[in-house]
Formats: sequence, structure tokens, C-alpha cells
Amino acid sequence: METQKKRPFIKKTPLSFDRWEIWTTLRRILGIQIETVKIPLQENEILSLSGEDLPENSRIITRKADRMLTKGSKSFKIIRMKAFAKRFNKTNKSCNILKNGKMTRHKNIPENTDVLVIGGGSAGRYAAKAAARKGARVTLVDPGPFGGLCILKGCMPSKALLRSAHVRHLIVSELPELGLRLSGGQVDLDMNYIVDAKDRMIKEFADDALQGILNNPSITLVEGLFRFTGPHEGSISGAPISFRKAIIASGTRIRLPHIKGLEAKDIMTSDDILETRILPKKVVVIGTGPVGLELGQYLHNMGSDVTILNINPEWGHGLDRTISDAYLDALRARGLPIHMGITNEWVENTPLGPIMHYIHNGKEHSCPFDRLLSAIGRTPDTHILDLPAAGVETAEKGIIKVLSTLQTTNPDIYAAGDVTGILPVLNVATFHGEMAGENATREQPLPVPEPPVPIAIFTDPEYARSGLSENEALHKGYSVITGKIPFTDLGKAIVYRRTDGWLKIVADEKDRKILGAEMFGPGASDLIHVIHVAIALGATLDDYQRILHIHPTFAEIFKYLVDDLTDAI
Ligand SMILES: Cc1cc2nc3c(=O)[nH]c(=O)nc-3n(C[C@H](O)[C@H](O)[C@H](O)COP(=O)(O)OP(=O)(O)OC[C@H]3O[C@@H](n4cnc5c(N)ncnc54)[C@H](O)[C@@H]3O)c2cc1C
Repeated sequence: METQKKRPFIKKTPLSFDRWEIWTTLRRILGIQIETVKIPLQENEILSLSGEDLPENSRIITRKADRMLTKGSKSFKIIRMKAFAKRFNKTNKSCNILKNGKMTRHKNIPENTDVLVIGGGSAGRYAAKAAARKGARVTLVDPGPFGGLCILKGCMPSKALLRSAHVRHLIVSELPELGLRLSGGQVDLDMNYIVDAKDRMIKEFADDALQGILNNPSITLVEGLFRFTGPHEGSISGAPISFRKAIIASGTRIRLPHIKGLEAKDIMTSDDILETRILPKKVVVIGTGPVGLELGQYLHNMGSDVTILNINPEWGHGLDRTISDAYLDALRARGLPIHMGITNEWVENTPLGPIMHYIHNGKEHSCPFDRLLSAIGRTPDTHILDLPAAGVETAEKGIIKVLSTLQTTNPDIYAAGDVTGILPVLNVATFHGEMAGENATREQPLPVPEPPVPIAIFTDPEYARSGLSENEALHKGYSVITGKIPFTDLGKAIVYRRTDGWLKIVADEKDRKILGAEMFGPGASDLIHVIHVAIALGATLDDYQRILHIHPTFAEIFKYLVDDLTDAI
């Protein structure tokens, strides 16, 4: 008897006629082959697709926009172009973890971990590696794109752009002083090249940072947003996780100014400047911190008409006025108007565009602008963490309160980096990250050392300092002796026609130790390390005086001043 052949159960997933028609038309007309890849997902696995990072001319076609996130489902379906088939691992039909930065598959988000690090920026990566080095099982969580502020939107991209701007200024404004003439005169800007080159560099930095984490067998990297649900537990994009210790390294986000009449469409942030390929013609910059001065000078040197404003009457509160005033004057002399102590600022919106009105030195000023660059600082990124659930308290402006051990008000939770509001620079973020990572593995955490911190502003000329300022040294009870020297007294500065600079050294008159230094001048961000090493090693003026310096160099400026100070005591 002939058995009737059973028809396999066929489940049709209805596609609407429109969509079906689009697929077949696409295939036929464009010759595109589309495949479906099934990716089995275990419980607690998350797969995310990011369209942003795909190579040119490729698409992951999903029902939702560019990005999909699925958790705990049995299968996951993507439709892709045949041309890119080899990017996926065909044999096991799964995708590589963060391979090429396109797709992320998180195997088994751990239910518990020794140390949970929240944030994959500089502080977080250093914390994770330090805890792993001490033998802890570490889970590092970050929503991506991976890299953190310094690599993606901070130190590195801004310096890459500044380099073009400084060189352009050199060519346009300084060549004649050196007896050099450009025939033709004009330096053409290729903004697409400049921004693309910057993007390529930061991608390499970000890939390196990622590999450093992926290659560490003790660290599990999970893509997602973390929030606390209790003192030792929380969730990563919905999946629960508990921890023995946690380190919050979630960084900061941009803050915007509240100026009467100012419309959101007219505001640019540092993020925007780093991406812009069409430079605004007239820019008002609000803020004279490192970001305002660096990016203000970038725009100016690239040809924008820039005015920098600050409501604070003094630049560099508590620092030496001779140095601060001379520094701002040096920037002004390079064509950058900087007005400190402005009041009554408001924006008038006219048919020809916005106008910034303000009072400076008792006089009313009106400054039409195309865009306003907001550089008033950043605010801790803690809003989605639900800190109260973990018993972590914040102080003024939302910064996380920490002890000298970097413990928060929950002794099992540490914080490091910009989120602590201590000093928002990279060297502090990485150092505190490392210290927090080590402390999180100790029964009894240790107070974190307080080495001198060198910092710099990468304008031209550059500003830099290290160790204690005169005021700080006085507050700490030192009997202070200081000395200052202008770059006009320095042979190399004279022959190089770069005499715009000053150096100040602060020392203890009793034991003659060098306590701090402040300076501006060409190359100050590198130069400061000469004296920084001496400060960090506790050298005295006499120790320093016996160190030979190459002649003629900019570094000789330290020797000259130390010689003077030694004679004076
Ligand atoms: C334009 C600009 C230029 C700069 N230039 C310099 C410079 O030249 N030199 C210098 O020393 N410093 C510079 N800085 C400052 C420097 O970039 C920062 O001090 C440093 O990057 C801070 O590192 P961080 O690890 O604390 O934070 P971040 O690098 O911001 O890392 C925080 C990470 O936490 C993640 N995160 C946030 N919330 C969560 C959550 N709920 N769950 C999981 N992850 C989360 C974020 O996605 C981010 O990846 C600059 C800053 C800017 C804006």
C-alpha cells in the first residue's frame, strides 16, 4: 500500500507584498543576492548589529533601523548581501565577537563576577586590567562604540585636527618672519581629507584598545548599558548580574549653556567640531577651558572668525597672574579675541542670524555669529546608573563622592576617572583607574598616592604646569620661594623667533625642594616633563643645578631659572 507522503510542516512567515516585491526587484535589477543567516542564541546571549561601522556600500538589512539587540531568543535572523558573505563565519553560522567592530555576540553574560567595571573608557580599561592582573574575574561593560572619550571624541581627535590648524597658521602667518614667501599665497583646506585622516587614526587607537581587552583572558567584555538594582547587583541591558566589587568609570557627558534667546540649532559642541567638514564662518565660543581654547584656536587657524567669551573675570583661578595674563595675550596676539569677565549675555535672533550681546569692561558689545561653540565643561554620566539603589552618593554637580581609597559611600563600589570630578584629564583617569582596580581586589584598600599631575593645553603657544602652584604651596605651609623667566631671555627662543613664553618655578626655601612649575611657550606640553620628573622625584634646586642641558635648547630655560633661584636663596 502506498503510503501517502507526509508533507513537511511548512510555516510561512508572511512578507507583505510590498516588501516581497522590493526584495525580488532588488535582486533582479541590481543583481544582489540576499541570504538569511540563522544565529542560534543561548539564554542570556545578546547579539547586536551596528550599521554605523559597516564598510562602505554594505548594509545589514533588519526590520528595525540600523541596530538590533535580542536577548534570550532561540534564533536571530539577518538578511545580508552576498558580497559580504565571507565576513561571517559560515561553518558555525555565528559571527565573531566584535570582529571588525560590526557585530557583537556576547556569550553568557556572567551571572556574577568578582569585579564589575562600568565604562570602557580610559579609567575603566585600566581598572579592568589592574584587577585582572591581581587575579580577579573581571566583567567590563560599555555600550559602545568602544574606546571612551579620549580616543573617540577627546584628546586624540582634537590633537589630530589641531596639527593641521597649527601648521596652517605657521604657513599663513609665520613664514615671512623666517624670510620665507609662499608664491600664490593661499593654503587650500581639504576638510574631507583632514576629517577622514583623523577618523582613520582614532579607529586604529580604538581597535588597539579593544584588542587589549579582548586578549585578556580574565576580562569578559559585554556590550550594554549597566544600571544598579542593589548594593551588589545590577543589570546589563536587562540581564541581571551580581558582583563582589564594582568600579564606576562612566565618564561624563556634554553640558550646554543656558543663555537667553540661544536656540539649540545654533549650538555646536566639541563632538560637532571634531566631525565638521564645513567650518562655520563666525563662531562665538563660550568657555576658556582647554576645550574652548584649543578648539577656538583650531577654528580660528582654519579661517573662521572666532570670539571667545567667559563670565569669569580671571583665567586660571589661583594661578600666577603674570603667566596667565601673558598666556592669554599670546593667544590674542595670534588673532584670537578672548574676553574675560563678560556679563549680561543674551542672544537676539534676527532674520540675518543670531547676535550675541554682552557687556565687557562696562561697554556693550554685539557679535553676530553662525554657530556658538559650547565649551563650558561636562557633567558626570551617572543619570542611568540609579546610584541610590547601590547606596552610592553624589556631591555637587552630580560627581561621585570618593574617599582617598577611591571607595564611594558603598565601600564595595569604587569610582575612577572624570566621573569623580577630581581632575578631568587622561593621566588622572588612567592612574585612578589602575589604583581602583587594585584596591577592588584587596581586603583592605589602600589610600591612593597623590603624585604631581602634569597637565597641558595644546594651543599655540602651549600652556603646561606640574606640581603645586604658589598658592597651593602656601596653603600647605611651605615657606615658598618662586622665580619667573620670560622666553625672551632664552637663546633658542630668540633664534627660532618664538619668544612668546614664560616659566615660573615654585620651591621650598627651607629644604630647597622643587614643588611646582607653570609655563607657556612653544612645546610646553613636552617641555614641562623636564621639570616634572625632578618634582616627582623630590629633587632640590641644587640637584637640578648639577644636571647638564644641551645648548641651545628650549629646555635650558629650566636651568637658567634654577641657577637664578639657587643664587637667590
Ligand atoms: C575635546 C576634548 C579634548 C580633550 N583633550 C584632552 C587632552 O589633550 N589631554 C587630557 O589629558 N585629557 C583630555 N580630555 C579629557 C579626557 O578625554 C578625559 O579626562 C578622559 O578621557 C576621561 O576618561 P574616563 O574613563 O573617565 O571617561 P570616558 O572615556 O568618558 O569613559 C566612560 C565610558 O563609560 C561608558 N558608560 C557611560 N555610562 C555607562 C553605563 N551606564 N554602563 C556602561 N558604560 C557606561 C561610556 O560609554 C564611556 O565609554 C579631553 C576631553 C575633551 C572633551
